[in-house]
Amino acid sequence: MSSFEDLFGKPADGSWRAPGRVNLIGEHTDYNDGLVLPIALPNRILVTAAKRDDGRIAVSSAGRPGVIEFGIDELAPGSVGDWAAYPAGAAWVLREAGYPIGGANLLFDSDLPSGAGLSSSAALLCATLSALLGLAEAEVDPAEVARLAQRAENQYVGAPVGLMDQMASMCCTAGHALFFDIRAMATDQIPFDPPADGLALLVVDVKAPHRHVDGEYAARRKSCEQAAAELGVPALRSIAYADLDDALARLKDEVVRKRVRHVVTEIRRVEDAVALMRAGKLREVGPLFTASHASLRDDFEITVPELDVAVDTALAAGALGARMTGGGFGGCIIALTEADAAESVLAAIEKAFAEHGFSAPSSLAATPSAGASRLS
Ligand code: ADP
Ligand code: MG
Repeated sequence: MSSFEDLFGKPADGSWRAPGRVNLIGEHTDYNDGLVLPIALPNRILVTAAKRDDGRIAVSSAGRPGVIEFGIDELAPGSVGDWAAYPAGAAWVLREAGYPIGGANLLFDSDLPSGAGLSSSAALLCATLSALLGLAEAEVDPAEVARLAQRAENQYVGAPVGLMDQMASMCCTAGHALFFDIRAMATDQIPFDPPADGLALLVVDVKAPHRHVDGEYAARRKSCEQAAAELGVPALRSIAYADLDDALARLKDEVVRKRVRHVVTEIRRVEDAVALMRAGKLREVGPLFTASHASLRDDFEITVPELDVAVDTALAAGALGARMTGGGFGGCIIALTEADAAESVLAAIEKAFAEHGFSAPSSLAATPSAGASRLS
């Protein structure tokens, strides 16, 4: 008998997977109506599911104790806490949006680190939504599932997240990065397949203790909004790269000027990265990663010593480019390396972390993978 049958007493009807993501470039541009360029990771959350006919949902997750159960009709924002808030939020948003979902037993399993900035929260929501819709035999456009996942995380879980993570988890394709223009709400698949070019993309979780992340994030958003208001534009996306110096000259506050310089130059770097990928010049993307990191460190001021040491060490060990990725103040770095250099770059980072007395980092090889799908 499978562990699913052990737990719920009857066999599963199907299984679905939804991946985590890593953003290649375009950091803190999403809430400025900007551009982002994530890939889906091979690491994913898997959910095995069976229908129930009593309007109730039972959830369990490998490595976490117990089974948590709730009635779909009783759900209201915040009514289910802890990790089960995510599957409960998925059921709630489907009910609110009028999708014909029924009860279900759901068993989750994951090889995606949780809380590392690789978006296990979006993967959990996208996996649950895919399973509940799949059990109901409802065909829904992946981008619409992504919007439902965002609404669930915003309104049910109470986290003010953007739409990038869910779009990556739902809409990415293998061997590509997802170019997502937030202002236009338009996506494009950009060829990006490091292994096919003799390259590797290393993701290193620096395991830094998170420091004041929420407050710092809110402060950065506020600076960007203030700057847009002062410049008389709806969002910083409206400041063209060619007009950056003019815009900076019109801003009084030195800190706000730095924040604007990051956002405008970062959007430009996304455009440059996309152009290089389209031209098949993957190695030349490396320096853009490195420039992005410098901008996040010096102008946006959201790096911590662990991130800076990891990036500097990767570059010194021969990486073609490296940068922090995600919200900052911890999380992960990415490093683009020649395939045969990945191991020595990682070893150099591990050695540097030991010398600095940092926690040991962990890593994964980020092959650009496909978005959520049904497995069986
Ligand atoms: P991230 O999205 O960067 O991984 P978050 O803090 O947004 O970090 O989401 C992490 C949360 O998602 C965890 O605290 C937990 O509630 C939930 N979660 C992630 N993976 C799992 C899993 N395999 N099983 C149950 N809950 C999970
Ligand atoms: Mg998250």
